[in-house]
Amino acid sequence: MLGGMQDFELRVPRLLDHAAREHATRRIVTRWADGRETRTDWAGIARDARRFAQALEGLGIAPGDRIATLAMNHTNHLIAWYGTIGMGGVVHTINPRLFDDQLEYIANHAGDRVLLYDKTFQPIVDRLKPRWTSIEHFIAFDDAGFEALLDAESGDYAWREGSERDPCMLCYTSGTTGNPKGVLYEHRSTVLHAMNATQPWVLGLSSRDTILPIVPMFHAAAWGLPFAAPLAGAALVFSQTNDAAVLCDLMTAENVTLGSGVPTVWLAFFQHIDAGGTVPPALKQITVGGSAAPRAMLARFLDLGIKPTHLWGMTETSPVATAFAPRPDWDEMHRDAQLDVICRQGAIPFGIELRIVDDDGRELPRDGSVSGRLQVRGPWIVKRYFGADADAVDADSWFDTGDVALLHPDGTMQITDRAKDVIKSGGEWISSVDLENAAVGCPGVAEAAAIGVAHPRWDERPLLVVVRKPGSDVTADAILGHLSGHVAKWWLPDEIVFVEELPHTATGKLLKTVLRERFKDYRLHAA
Ligand code: ADP
Repeated sequence: MLGGMQDFELRVPRLLDHAAREHATRRIVTRWADGRETRTDWAGIARDARRFAQALEGLGIAPGDRIATLAMNHTNHLIAWYGTIGMGGVVHTINPRLFDDQLEYIANHAGDRVLLYDKTFQPIVDRLKPRWTSIEHFIAFDDAGFEALLDAESGDYAWREGSERDPCMLCYTSGTTGNPKGVLYEHRSTVLHAMNATQPWVLGLSSRDTILPIVPMFHAAAWGLPFAAPLAGAALVFSQTNDAAVLCDLMTAENVTLGSGVPTVWLAFFQHIDAGGTVPPALKQITVGGSAAPRAMLARFLDLGIKPTHLWGMTETSPVATAFAPRPDWDEMHRDAQLDVICRQGAIPFGIELRIVDDDGRELPRDGSVSGRLQVRGPWIVKRYFGADADAVDADSWFDTGDVALLHPDGTMQITDRAKDVIKSGGEWISSVDLENAAVGCPGVAEAAAIGVAHPRWDERPLLVVVRKPGSDVTADAILGHLSGHVAKWWLPDEIVFVEELPHTATGKLLKTVLRERFKDYRLHAA
């Protein structure tokens, strides 16, 4: 027997239609790299997305076809997302910071038929054009080409209907090892993920919000914000560049209430503030994730009265899975205890199920003391990678995240490391993340990476690689002294080396593989 309720497929274009109907004049602003600013609103985006859908059909694009973008955050990129999805296509966001071999691999693997790109990436396009085997149309976003495509269409177009389980977007993991893997989001998973993001225990979005997604649209769909914003009726502000001064200026000028970015973005933000910049007055919440947010950074936001929403997720989880949410006793908690909670990766919202297991796959207790491999399942979690011939989950739908975590009795989750980054010393695990976070709390330290190096007795011991803040001459002893107050004695790095710069992945994470390779023959003096 079927229930008596309506068929209402959870399709992405409904998000846009809702915004265009109920929040038509909420603005969408772009500050382009050349300083120009353009403004439209949800009604304008809906009209232009329809025109873009018509243009794609005019090019012979059919539902299910992949349309790639190689672009920063801006209005035209947003129009292309909704237009593509609205005509049944699949948006494939390509990360321009990938290496050529990866860029070649993913566009061919995805079978992209169209590439929309920013002129600043013209050199990539010129280099890879001969190696991309399926792309038929190359369209620049920021010259007359894109606008001319839209201008030629009427916008009189009805979205393609279909199943909520149809695909709508394809995102590849950055692939620090092996080839990148594609995660094929569907309409339903995207809408559910957007509904989750707007909840009070996640981002608490409403039409009073103005959102600046600093996280790139090519990185896990800008954490889903371009889908959550129309659902909430929020305004969106984009910057084509990631310069801290420009971002701060834009946040102030546009009364941005929520900014989203990885920790390095917020480090640059505070460097700008410390050099005389003003804290954007309307900013009431920031989200930070992608890698662990340092405690000192979270504390600064807290002291400024800006809610630091620490998120955890990955491309495979759409990407937001857990988020900081104040507990019932929040107001009575001491500031240090509050910070302890914010440093964790958040609470578990409805729709996400987590568990931790040991190396034999046995479930571990949620007592906040034993860490294990973190597994996740839910309606916006990957089941099978694009083009793969086997599922990426076990028989009970658990997906192994590759992260190591603690589950606390109060329902919060704490990432302690990535499975491949933990430092295994004498059979015990040292969290490289905890060491790094403690180290960046030391005055004079700009950034730090902890890696395990070979030790004859302990198997591995931690080596801390540090970048000093400009003008600082902080010493190894000073850092060790600081660390002693924060981590167990046997966790203290055996040595500290100073470097000018640390290697990062295309998405701003520490590239531990490169560091491990660089220090693979490093001999500890004590060893
Ligand atoms: P990739 O896995 O290719 O680096 P993702 O963007 O999908 O790209 O990264 C997901 C990973 O980032 C997670 O598995 C986790 O290790 C890390 N991560 C994300 N958010 C956090 C966070 N708040 N704290 C610590 N690690 C995080």
